[in-house]
Amino acid sequence: MLALLDFRLRQRDFLLEISRAITERLELNEVLKRVVHASVVMLAGQSGVVALRDSTGRFKIRAVKGVPQDKFGALDERMQAMIEVASERDPEILNAALREMAAVIDATLIQTFAIPLTIAGEAVGLLIVFRNFQGGATPDDVQVLQSFADQAAIAVHNAQLYERIMVDRKQLAAVVQHSADGVMILDASLRIMSFNRALERMTGWSTPDVIGLPLDEVFRFSHVERGDLQEAMMRGWPRADATESEDEVYTVEADLVRRDGLSVSVGIRYAPLFNADRKLANIIANVRDVTNFRQAQQMQNVFISTVSHELRTPVTLIKGYAATLRREDVTWEPEFVREYSSVIEEEADRLTELIENLLTASRIQAENTVKLNLADTDIEAIASRSVERFRTQTTRHTFKLEFAPDFPFVQGDETRLRQVLDNLLSNAIKYSPDGGTIRVRGTYNDAAITISVIDQGVGLSEQEMEHVFERFYRADSTLSRTTQGTGLGLYLSKAIVEAHGGSIHVESNPGEGSTFAFTLPRT
Ligand code: ADP
Repeated sequence: MLALLDFRLRQRDFLLEISRAITERLELNEVLKRVVHASVVMLAGQSGVVALRDSTGRFKIRAVKGVPQDKFGALDERMQAMIEVASERDPEILNAALREMAAVIDATLIQTFAIPLTIAGEAVGLLIVFRNFQGGATPDDVQVLQSFADQAAIAVHNAQLYERIMVDRKQLAAVVQHSADGVMILDASLRIMSFNRALERMTGWSTPDVIGLPLDEVFRFSHVERGDLQEAMMRGWPRADATESEDEVYTVEADLVRRDGLSVSVGIRYAPLFNADRKLANIIANVRDVTNFRQAQQMQNVFISTVSHELRTPVTLIKGYAATLRREDVTWEPEFVREYSSVIEEEADRLTELIENLLTASRIQAENTVKLNLADTDIEAIASRSVERFRTQTTRHTFKLEFAPDFPFVQGDETRLRQVLDNLLSNAIKYSPDGGTIRVRGTYNDAAITISVIDQGVGLSEQEMEHVFERFYRADSTLSRTTQGTGLGLYLSKAIVEAHGGSIHVESNPGEGSTFAFTLPRT
């Protein structure tokens, strides 16, 4: 009688313990440990095992009591064997398999209780208790055991759900953290609640410094292209009856002042998040750095105006000279006609060259390289012919050709390489308005040849040097504003040199002239 009372008390204690585990402890391994411990003690057993089905459907041991660590491997193997025979539903075979499991732990274990942990009729796991004596269990005890197992199953299920939510949460946090776009979460009163790494980089603010701050303290704009979130909210954004939150995305485009004072152009998309009562709970902001895009747009605009200017000048000249020649009231001297015609021809050549350059540039954009007709090329001869041509066009500049003796030939495209040299020489003249010496130097070693064009002109700043090889870039000096040019010459030169497997560089100081040098491989 006493023993029975004691057993009932113990049952109650353990059921309580498991209920507590369900409500207070959500970490799965801890719950499993408690379940196996309570079961073993409740059945006065010596050892116990809890196995759970993993995502592949295999039962894996997750917690044990009274099982030495070195037995885990063998026990797991036996368990798989036991699960296989369990599906045959023959109690004799199953019992034999359970006894084999017991023997792996300890030869004295002679009785086993195996209780499935089921949720909605599906076995999520298995609880096994081993005993070193043979004792009976009344149908009542079995029922209590079963309800105990059901409780344990709920605890396991909750813990599994919790674990899955934690994993999902971590995955989501990792996605947000590592997103290339800036992502932040605001509360309904526009205070920052979360801030990812991309935003730290973009704004120069660190996460701990911004958490809790009002949005407008961190996001200060020097120029707003479009949108004003606060104003939009005063006008009723976001509408709580919007069916798709996508309909309610609000966009702001502006130049953001970073914490260090630098500027970055951003596009921000604000998306509202409503709670169950359709009240605004949070705003998710996606911030994209559009500085490059803006610069490209600006460059495109500058390009359009320079190209139109460059096209208009020769066309105006051609038209003017042609109209003069056509005048019927005047008879022009042949020499005059020759001179005017040659201006028309030169201007037409300039137009052709400009159009040719534009076409090549757009081809490079599409194909990423320049097509070459390679042959043995005498670059010294090309350089010397180019210099002769330019010599006739200027009186203020002196040219010097300085080529090392026995200058080697290279595999190259003569027309394209002439284009590079012409461009470097014409720049050297254009950007040395006060004249000076222009040197064309050729050096070589076993692997490569290097051609340098050295002038004594206006030079370039560090910042300008970074950009001179970009498409349509023109340094922002009064000189480049007053000289002809489209900002394509160096871009094309670089593409041509690189298509030859070479490279091009600039060295310069403002006011001290520039050296543009390109290197081509000798093989
Ligand atoms: P463009 O001469 O048509 O403007 P380029 O691509 O040849 O275009 O050159 C780009 C810019 O680089 C020029 O606008 C000029 O500001 C700068 N630059 C090129 N060559 C020189 C040079 N030798 N000295 C100083 N600045 C130069």
